[in-house]
Amino acid sequence: MSQRILIVEDEAEIADYLRRGLVFEGYAVELAGDGLVALAAARERPPDVVVLDLMLPGLDGMEVAERLRAGSDVPIIMLTARESVADRVAGLERGADDYLVKPFAFEELLARVRVQLRRHQAQSSGEILHFGPLALDLVAHEVRVDERRVAFTAKEFELLELFMRHPRQVLTRDLLYERIWGYDFGGESNVIEVYIRALRQKLEAAGAARLIHTIRGVGYVLRDEG
Ligand code: CA
Repeated sequence: MSQRILIVEDEAEIADYLRRGLVFEGYAVELAGDGLVALAAARERPPDVVVLDLMLPGLDGMEVAERLRAGSDVPIIMLTARESVADRVAGLERGADDYLVKPFAFEELLARVRVQLRRHQAQSSGEILHFGPLALDLVAHEVRVDERRVAFTAKEFELLELFMRHPRQVLTRDLLYERIWGYDFGGESNVIEVYIRALRQKLEAAGAARLIHTIRGVGYVLRDEG
């Protein structure tokens, strides 16, 4: 069965654009143009993720998020205009699992939706991923090397999670950009190198051997020998 996404957005053009993209990706999508319609829809047909615009007629996005949260732990991705971000980040973080600043590329939203769905599924099943001495606890959001805890940033955690879900499989740079950052850097950025270096340093400082290997000109692979 398709995973259900509820989009709460009063701007019909944006809502429709998101709906078409998400349906194309295989999700079942429901649209709501205001908060009350959204709350009723969520009660009747519980979604797996809610994409919620902050600026809505009637109840605003924060209120809708609060009411949704009263009866459910559904992940919420908040959409917000740039000018309202600075002073509201704390509020956004309290009310939502993630937020995106308009305008954004569709791929960016898709990446966030996938992260939330994965995380929520993992939390429901209490999942821990293992590879060699590594353990990735998706509930506690913790990385351990032979039971030693290693502090990871959110992006580093996502990157390691991706490798641990695809062990011994070469992950291309394009795929890493798309899955972790949600868009293509056009090969200009060294952000992947920076993150891979950080991962290696942290894991190796905790006593692990080299586990993430460079496949020159292609990408990276998680495996336990050179
Ligand atoms: Ca709006």
